[in-house]
Amino acid sequence: MASAVEKKRQREQKVVGQMIAIYCHGVHHTPTGQLCPQCQALNNYAMERSDKCPFMQEKTFCSNCKVHCYRGDMATQIRQVMRYAGPRMLLHHPVMAIRHVWESAKEKRQQNRR
Ligand SMILES: [Zn+2]
Repeated sequence: MASAVEKKRQREQKVVGQMIAIYCHGVHHTPTGQLCPQCQALNNYAMERSDKCPFMQEKTFCSNCKVHCYRGDMATQIRQVMRYAGPRMLLHHPVMAIRHVWESAKEKRQQNRR
């Protein structure tokens, strides 16, 4: 059985993967279900960061994270992906998107209380 932290990690990776797919399809016109090499590299990088994230227990998502472990060029790319895919997630994957927003907001409140 996967722990709660592992489940959270898997969910984060799924959300990031979906967002990169939406971005790549919309901006780079890649066929659905495929990623261009650039987005594939970003996706691999995001999965690796998530795997190694030591703060998984305390945060839902990298946007809530105080460390911002992404290195420069990847950070720029992922920000573009988030900006593009964020609103579109509501159309494509409403349940996932709403849960993500809700969990992020909850964690921000908890962080502010500390
Ligand atoms: Zn792409």
